[in-house]
Amino acid sequence: MHSGDFAGRLEAVQRAASVRQVDGVLVTPGPDLLYLTGYDAKPLERLTCLVVRAEGDPVLVAPGLERLAALASPIGALGIEVASWGELDDPYALVAGLLGTSGVVALDDHMWAEKVLALRQAMPHASQVLAGALIGPLRMRKDEAEIDALVEAGAAIDRVHAQVSALLRPGRTERAVGAEISDLILAEGHATVDFVIVGSGPNGASPHHEVSDRVLQAGDVVVVDIGGTMPSGYCSDCTRTYAIGEPPADFQAAYDVLLAAQAAAVQHVRAGVTCESVDSAARTGLEDAGYGELFIHRTGHGIGLQTHEDPYIVEGNVLLLEPGMAFSIEPGFYVEGRYGARIEDIVIATADGGIAANHRPHELQTV
Ligand code: ZN
Ligand code: ZN
Ligand code: ZN
Repeated sequence: MHSGDFAGRLEAVQRAASVRQVDGVLVTPGPDLLYLTGYDAKPLERLTCLVVRAEGDPVLVAPGLERLAALASPIGALGIEVASWGELDDPYALVAGLLGTSGVVALDDHMWAEKVLALRQAMPHASQVLAGALIGPLRMRKDEAEIDALVEAGAAIDRVHAQVSALLRPGRTERAVGAEISDLILAEGHATVDFVIVGSGPNGASPHHEVSDRVLQAGDVVVVDIGGTMPSGYCSDCTRTYAIGEPPADFQAAYDVLLAAQAAAVQHVRAGVTCESVDSAARTGLEDAGYGELFIHRTGHGIGLQTHEDPYIVEGNVLLLEPGMAFSIEPGFYVEGRYGARIEDIVIATADGGIAANHRPHELQTV
């Protein structure tokens, strides 16, 4: 179920290519292909490659045995020509034939190295650049349907968080809780589970800890960061922090600072401010209270067809937010050997503020 203004996106890429004097943009299976055509092709050893030329119509080069699958996707309805190749053909020569062997070709940022090198051999006089510079700016600015899809994903993961408190019982392992959360992520409407982090006690101090056999105990703080991909292709990602009974004595004061810092960053969002200013809106509060050293990662990442994509909310990123840019705001603090805490919402920038996709209470959830 992938929809979108694919024709408009293809045209925009073609325009960007001609402005930058790129002769062709080569896109292999992955989020860029999904974004441009709605074709959710599997990345395989056989070459499937969308060729968007600065001059001329786009062509999908695909193995003969994938032809029907490609035509069944929006590729068929879009009327994109599918140039299929047989098992003994050289698909790289086919691509070179569409583009010529010199000039500038932009390659999908996530193309496999073996394909990059085979293309270099087939087009020895062409220079290869990254297609991200052309496609990234489009993907970063979500249209209305994409915003709706992210809000829908946010609501689905919120419904999972609403059920997490009931799962966090002393005596259970992180792994057992994580397995139930995975089931809930699917039950609440996601097509796939992308990650489940249940960081209890000292495990919470490792931001990307997943699950372990550690047994939950009274007095644990538990960081629960979860996400999946919806049938629309768009992702969810949300963190809440829970306490099983009374948290360690010094925890609540730090958590209150985090709570205010996360809210300040969300408040700061609107079109026209820089990405790095959103980071510093979160960081300043923690720094002023003496917790700056414990906030060991950037404030956030863009989200869409991938959980992590542009724009990154990090010091040094002077990109100005525009309406439709969607990203996480997820400050945290981490004390090795003891606990961690993080609060994460997905926020979409508009001209006069940010729209949050997540709405569960931000306060420490005591169970
Ligand atoms: Zn992360
Ligand atoms: Zn997350
Ligand atoms: Zn995140």
